[in-house]
Order: sequence, then structure tokens, then C-alpha cells
Amino acid sequence: MQPFRCVKCSNITETDALDPLCGRCGAAVLLADGAGPSVSRGELDDLPPGVWRYRAFLPDAAFGESVTLGEGGTPLLRAERLGDELGLSNLLIKDESRNPTGSFMDRGSTVLLSLAKERRAKECTCVTTGNLGASLAAYCAKAGIRARIRVNPNTDQGKLYQMLAYGAEVEASSGPAARRRDANRLWVSAANPYLLEGEKTTGFEVVQELGWKAPDAIVVPVGTGGHLSMIWRSITQLRRAGLADASECRLLAVQVGKNVTKAAGGRASVQAAQVPLAELEESEPFFRDEAAKAVKESGGATIETTTADMVNATTLLARTEGIFAEPSSASVVAALSGAVRRGYVRRSETVVCVVTGAGLKDTKAVSRLARETRRVAFGEPYAMPTPRIGQTKLALLHLLQTRPSYGYELRNRLGPEKRLSTASVYQHLAELEDLMMVRRRVSVVAKGRERIPYELTRRGSDFLRIAGRLERAGRSVPS
Ligand SMILES: [Zn+2]
Repeated sequence: MQPFRCVKCSNITETDALDPLCGRCGAAVLLADGAGPSVSRGELDDLPPGVWRYRAFLPDAAFGESVTLGEGGTPLLRAERLGDELGLSNLLIKDESRNPTGSFMDRGSTVLLSLAKERRAKECTCVTTGNLGASLAAYCAKAGIRARIRVNPNTDQGKLYQMLAYGAEVEASSGPAARRRDANRLWVSAANPYLLEGEKTTGFEVVQELGWKAPDAIVVPVGTGGHLSMIWRSITQLRRAGLADASECRLLAVQVGKNVTKAAGGRASVQAAQVPLAELEESEPFFRDEAAKAVKESGGATIETTTADMVNATTLLARTEGIFAEPSSASVVAALSGAVRRGYVRRSETVVCVVTGAGLKDTKAVSRLARETRRVAFGEPYAMPTPRIGQTKLALLHLLQTRPSYGYELRNRLGPEKRLSTASVYQHLAELEDLMMVRRRVSVVAKGRERIPYELTRRGSDFLRIAGRLERAGRSVPS
């Protein structure tokens, strides 16, 4: 039995469940602080890098064979060019986008799925809009556990592709589903305390990499508040174990300004859908109180930023340091310039920015950048804007799936109810061509005229397959 502390009412619940909640009030729980491990710096230095290097600090149960994809051990990069821009001479970036599925979530997934496999769980269900689902899907695949992921319409296409590629069953969801208690079924949300235990290792790595000394400041996106709270827990655990000194280490928590917070609160859901910052939308603030406590204890501060600044920061980070982060991750960079201006950090201080996730799978962010810069290599599928596929284009894709066809022929195959001109069919084809969903074949002569038949590309048939799965899952085709 593991003791868990409720983040709301502080009640201690003892349970073996892998998805525990507070036994008194039903709120999220964290593993209760126990006696620290006795392990030396030397012993830890001798172990290979990665999440499992810190096994001694992970829950007792996590001693079986681990389900691992090589997560953690991400680089702590010196960011000189970005530091110059921001006026910081000792800026470092903890690049979590290097994890197996592109986000820090993999640190938690390896811990949770290792336990799930040991307990012979058969199925893992998760409600998510993004990175968590992609990460769990990958680790479920590795563990041989069925993954069922409930997504909402804001889910990034890149992350959907990821989940489907890892073989997860993706279902549509517009709200929380009933939680079914079952020993074989694991119900996972971002509040799972075992996920959080894994996320703690970000902090261990930063301190160890800096020669067992915490930096002056760590800048972290707030999100659910979980990762930030856990980074603070890692530092306090290292201090208690005598592995890190008690020098000041301020946590700077980054959150998005009120315009977005309001939208993410659910009241203005349409607005939320237009702010394509998936990880922030996903962020149910389960651990906001814990995070606020950690910020206060550390002598840090909460810094607000705006979505516009985040998008600019994404570009700045990529162009100065070669790191392409999700906009929600680049929020740390956006916030930092304000922090320097306001004197929260001094020029010579050692500052670590935690970049939590990769930008490549955030297709909306990618297309936004592509539109802005117009310099992305032509032919790179990610450079394409998020496909806007209406019913007509979908019908054309379905027709081309059966056989290649030219415009006039497609117009006739569409049937009279569509009533499109041939010119407009060609316009749709040109747009689908831009999206690299169709391509031209060599021209043929038909009815005395030269015709250019179109055929479906791999991308086009992938799109139809996913659209079909989503439709079957009760969700309309992405638009
Ligand atoms: Zn409680």
C-alpha cells in the first residue's frame, strides 16, 4: 500500500491503485513524502542517464523491469545566442523535446506503464488533447497494453497521427467520461501521481548536470501545475538526501495572460478553439495550489505572457538556438524577457528554461510559422497549412481512392447533386495538390482532348483513413 496526500484536503489515502484519488474528497493526490533514499552522488553519477537513474527516488513498487524507450537524460544546452537577445549571460535550456515522443510526459509514462505491466493491466484509457495521449500510446505499445484515448476536437493533428501510429484506439470525447473502476483497466489523467513521480526526474537531472548545484532560477510553464511542483519536489528531496546544497533556487512559473485563461476556463470555448496551444488548453489546473506553494517556498514568481508573445518566442528560440518548441513550451522564453526587465532575474544568474515539448507535431503552430516566414522548404509536408477539407474535397478524395480521374470525369462522377463546374473541380484539385493529397499523372488524350488525370498520394490516403476512423468514432471530419 502506498500513502497518497490529497492536494485539496491533505487527507492521506493508502491504496494499491495505480490511478488513485483522495478517499475523502475525490481530488487529485500526490505520493506522500516518505523517508528519503540513501544514495550517494557517486552512485548516481555512475548510473546511465535517464529517468531510471533515479530509481531510488521513485515509488517502491517501481523496481520491476521497466517499460522504457530511453526517456529522460535530455540535454541541458548552453543558450548563448538567446541569452544575448534576452540579456542573460548564463542561460541554459533543458530540452525536453528530445524525449521519445517529443515531450516531458514520457518521463511519467515510463514509470506508470512499468507498474501497469507489472500488475498485468490490460487496458489504459486516457482523456487528453495532446502530448499525454501520444506518450501513453507509445508506452502502451511497448508494454503490450491496449490504449484507448479520448480526444476532443482541439487535438492537434500531429498528435492524433502519433496516437494512431502507435496503435491506440482514438475516440471522440466532448467531456469527461464515467470512470470505470476495474483492476485490469487503468484510467489515466495528467493528474496521475505515478506520472508525476516520473516527471520529477527533470529536476534531478538539472541539478546533477550542474555539479549537484541547483541553478539560481528555473523557468517552467505552469500547465496543470504538476511538472512545476515536481521539479520543486526533486530539489527538496535532493537537499534532504544531502545531495544538493540549500542555495537559493527560485521557480518562475509561466502562465498565459487573462485573455487565454478565460478561454481555457470553458466559458468561451469557441475562443479557446482559436488559440491553438494544445497543452495549455489541456491544462486542468489540478496542481495549481501545489505549484503556487512551490513558487512561494522557492522565493520565485509567477509570470504572465500572451499567446502572441509565445508565438514570437517559438520563432526566436528556433532561430537562435535551433530548438523548435511547441508555442506552449516556448512560453518560458516569452516570459523570461519580461522577467529580466522586471528584475526577477539578474544578468549573471544561472537560469534554466525547461522547454517541455516539440513543435513539429503541433501542426497548427507549424503552419502558422510557415505562413509567417514563407521560407520553409517546399515539399516539406509539415510546411503545409492544416488541411481544410470540406465535403467536396472529401468526396473528390474518395473518388480518387477508387481510381485516378481527370477533372471533367470527376465532375460527372460527383453526380448532379453537387453541380460543380469543371473549373471549380480543378480549383479543388489544385488546393488538394497544394496539400499534397493528390498529384498529377502524365496526361492522356480522351475524347480528342488532352486530359490530366489526378491520383491520390500517400498523404491523401492516410488522411482518408484517419478521417474514416474519426468519423466512426463519432467525430466529424476535421475542418
Ligand atoms: Zn481530499
